[in-house]
This record gives sequence, C-alpha cells and structure tokens, in this order.
Amino acid sequence: MRLCRSSADSSASPGSGPEGWSRLPASLPQRHPTGYATTGADRHDRHHSDGSCEAHRLGRGSPRFARRGAYGLAMGRVRAVLLDVDGVLTVSWKPLPGAVEAVRRLRDEGVPLALLTNTTSRTRASIAEVLARAGFPVGAEDILTAPSVTAAYLEEHCPGARCLLLNSGDVRDDLAGVRLVEPGDGTVPDVVVVGGAGPEFGYEALNRAFGHLQRGARLVAMHRNLYWRTDAGLQLDTGAFLLGLERAARTEAEVTGKPAASFFATALAHLGAGPEETLMVGDDIESDVLAAQRHGIGGVLVRTGKYLPETHRAASGTPDHVLDSVADVPALLERLRQRS
Ligand SMILES: [Mg+2]
Repeated sequence: MRLCRSSADSSASPGSGPEGWSRLPASLPQRHPTGYATTGADRHDRHHSDGSCEAHRLGRGSPRFARRGAYGLAMGRVRAVLLDVDGVLTVSWKPLPGAVEAVRRLRDEGVPLALLTNTTSRTRASIAEVLARAGFPVGAEDILTAPSVTAAYLEEHCPGARCLLLNSGDVRDDLAGVRLVEPGDGTVPDVVVVGGAGPEFGYEALNRAFGHLQRGARLVAMHRNLYWRTDAGLQLDTGAFLLGLERAARTEAEVTGKPAASFFATALAHLGAGPEETLMVGDDIESDVLAAQRHGIGGVLVRTGKYLPETHRAASGTPDHVLDSVADVPALLERLRQRS
C-alpha cells in the first residue's frame, strides 16, 4: 500500500516545528523550464485541475516564519533579494571576490535577503557556519535549502512514508521528521529521495533505487541540476542520474528545490515581500533566474560559478539583468531605486 498521498488529496496543514523553514508549506513539483525529462509536472497539472495546488503556489507561511516585519522604509520602493549560494557567493565554499562586501552592503542598507540554495551536501546550520566564518553576515535563519523544503514536502504529502535517501553529504538534521530507512535492512521504501550527487551514486545504489521504483516507490528529487562548479571545474550532478532513473523506471520525479515554484514562494513568505519587489540572483539561468521570473520575481544572472556563455545563449528565456558578479548587485539596486 502506498503511504504517500498526492498534493491533490492532501489535507495536512503546514507543520509548525521549531526549525521554521523545514516546516513551511511543502513544495510542489515543477516542470523544468528546458523541458529536459520534465518531471512531476503532469502530476502537478492534474492536481491543479481541482484547485488544490493553488494555495501552495500562493506560499502560505507558518505563523513562525510568515513575515519578518517591516523593512526597507528608507529605500523608497522596497526591494528584497534572494541569493543563490554556490557559484554566486562561493565556489567550493570559498567566497567569490566582492561577495562578502556586497552582502554586507545589502545588510547595511536594510535590504531583506534570504539565501535560496539547492545545496544538498550541508545542513542549514553548517552552511551558515561556513559562510559566517568567511565573513558573510548571515545565519541559519536566512537560509532555505532543498533538503529543508523536501522535509516539508514529505511531511505534507507522504506522512509516515518510509524514505530511502540517496545523497552525498549528511543533511539528516534538516530532514527531521522524515522516516529514513537504511539500504539493505530489508525495509521496502515508499519513497526514493534523491539529493545531491557524489560517490554515493554508484551502480549498486542506483540499481537499488531502480528496483524500488519498479515496485512502485515514489521518486522525489531535491533538484535536477546537471552540474555544479568546484575548484576542479564542472562536476556532474543529480540531474544526469535522475534522467536515467526516470527513463528506466518509467516514472517522473517530483522536484522540491529550485526551480519549484513554492521554493520561491516560501522565501517570499519568509521575507514578507511580493515577487514584483524582489530580485533573485543566481548563476543557473534556468533553475535560478528564469524560474524566478516565471513567478514574477526579477531575475539576475551572474557570470560566475556555473555560468557558461553557451548555456546563456541557448537558454529558454532572457534574464532581466546580467551582471559580472554578485559584487554588482548593490549598484543594480541603486539604479533600480533611482528609476522607481
Ligand atoms: Mg548556483
């Protein structure tokens, strides 16, 4: 018996655990803008036909995290900023030139900001620690990760489900409440949860996941990024493996991190900002920038991290703004203020 329920038949209210982000309304699957191996979208669309998805798209927030209060009163038109982390603020967790100064300036100017990352190798607390050590004025409460929204999604749509996690990195602290099963312990999972790729994505693990999918397990993916940049260059990421699993098992993953609409909606709810007064800064033109633009958020593509000119040229849309790096964001905000 499948324990998971779809978003259409879910009547669960948003959780209200102590970790804020991880108990916010669950993410919904999102069609990938490029259309490669679109996943979860058909399921999403079907469910939307009864209207049940709309509430999620509107980004209901938990009482604890609904709004952070008034802000930006000195800015004229308020502008909040959502920042991707990997490739925008850091590469291999080392700050990019001018990134610390840019975030400090945004903070000094009272710009509400949140970090919105598909990073699956670290918990929110660990990311905050690394960034703070590098000089970024941010804390765990400013960070929304794909694992934390995945936990919310599973809690809402698959309560009590046995979940087999395939991920590189220990993010269990951000998966509190998720019933994880160990591979090889004899437990048949209801859901295969795919996080970030790494050495754990070997033949045995992928074949095990394939077997469970054939037996009807649901496939939930924290993201479907094809690659990310490190000191050693571009590295193959989850999306490449996910394509194979989906094709082989004839199933579709439900994606919870960027570019999922409710990932952005959750961040806006946290900041108490509307999409039209918010910018999303990212190095992934599809998952960060164009996905944000589809939800009314201003998109800012930076030429750092995974940015490639050919990917930019071949993209499914045009960013609202293109900057050399996040160091140019404060000046962009200043120009936008003067125009408003
Ligand atoms: Mg990035």
